[in-house]
Amino acid sequence: MADRFFPNQMPHFVAEAPADELAPSDSDIAGDPLTPSKLLSLPHAALSARFIQTALDLKETVVRGMWTLSERYPQDYTLYTGALGTAFLALKSYVVSNNENDLKLCSEIVRACETLSGDSRRVSFLCGRAGVCALGAVAAKLANDGRLVDHYLEKFKHIKLPSDLPNELLYGRAGFLWACLFLNKHICQHTISKTIMRAVVDEVIKAGRQLGKNGKSPLMYEWHGKKYWGAAHGLAGIMHVLMNMELKPDEVEDVKNTLRYMIKNRFPSGNFHSSEGNDSDKLVHWCHGAPGVALTLIKAAEVFGDSEFLQAALDAGEVVWNRGLLKRVGICHGISGNTYVFLSLYRLTGDPVYLYRAKAFACFLHQNAQMLISEGKMQSGDRPFSMFEGIGGMAYLFFDMNEPSAARFPAYEL
Ligand SMILES: [Zn+2]
Repeated sequence: MADRFFPNQMPHFVAEAPADELAPSDSDIAGDPLTPSKLLSLPHAALSARFIQTALDLKETVVRGMWTLSERYPQDYTLYTGALGTAFLALKSYVVSNNENDLKLCSEIVRACETLSGDSRRVSFLCGRAGVCALGAVAAKLANDGRLVDHYLEKFKHIKLPSDLPNELLYGRAGFLWACLFLNKHICQHTISKTIMRAVVDEVIKAGRQLGKNGKSPLMYEWHGKKYWGAAHGLAGIMHVLMNMELKPDEVEDVKNTLRYMIKNRFPSGNFHSSEGNDSDKLVHWCHGAPGVALTLIKAAEVFGDSEFLQAALDAGEVVWNRGLLKRVGICHGISGNTYVFLSLYRLTGDPVYLYRAKAFACFLHQNAQMLISEGKMQSGDRPFSMFEGIGGMAYLFFDMNEPSAARFPAYEL
């Protein structure tokens, strides 16, 4: 188990130096591998400047690897592992740096993804056509191009959901609903009508109750024959999206009781099963295990206000602190994704310990990731420049460290 993650030897807390203190030199900071105390004690403005500069450098590397070197004709259009993830990162860079070239780049990549996804049957935000059309519309709005916004919205509204669609986030109905939420947040509250979303929610609830009726959880789902619990393919991801919807009182009870079922049956360590009946307590990823479930429990604490969800989220956060310093960089199953658990806990509780923990994980990456990858001690994934498995996600996190209380897990927290 221990070979999945680095032992967390970082101090329990490091206070920031006063804003006017002289920042240490690069050589001072570099002499402290794996426990980046000096980096952590920098005043916020100085640390933030480092994160942003590294994010901008990484973004250039990602654009070269994913876009320029493919001669602007990428094989994979998805946000998860493909070109749309680079467009998503470029948009983030634009929002933080206000550099118009990033917005233009984003639009250019989305256009290529639109062509590539033209006959795709996939409909989710992360891995399907809904992500392309939704991101295209939002980028067009930021560019004040009303005609292009209408173009992408028209394409979005033509997306047909196959009747055999699964319900999970990565490829299924929850992933389509998330794209609707993204549009309604960034374009206009009513861009995608309640009627359209309600019809999909009905399907999700119906399917969940059907499979839940023989077990102890009111809602249950299957993907490729397994009843997953995690954010990518299972209960955590579906419940997270449902909690963003207008639900009927009986549906709210089913969501709450599904989460209670998961809490009651979690591992003694506080970690969560990756699927029903799988008793191997080893994965601490967003896709499978405590990090993805923690974000869902944080959402439950925000929406329902019940202290049981807050406590379970805090417990899951401890698992991530102790076992979440993974030997991978990515958002899906790497340190970058796990860092967002602390950012989210900080937003929920206001407790500076969680801000510190987010900084500790991000500083660990900032100081060590490139070196550990080049030494073969850390993996950058099969798609090393991608948003969800590679350094694209790390760049996104570093942009978010500029304003930690505004950070949201990409393509998951709204
Ligand atoms: Zn994963």
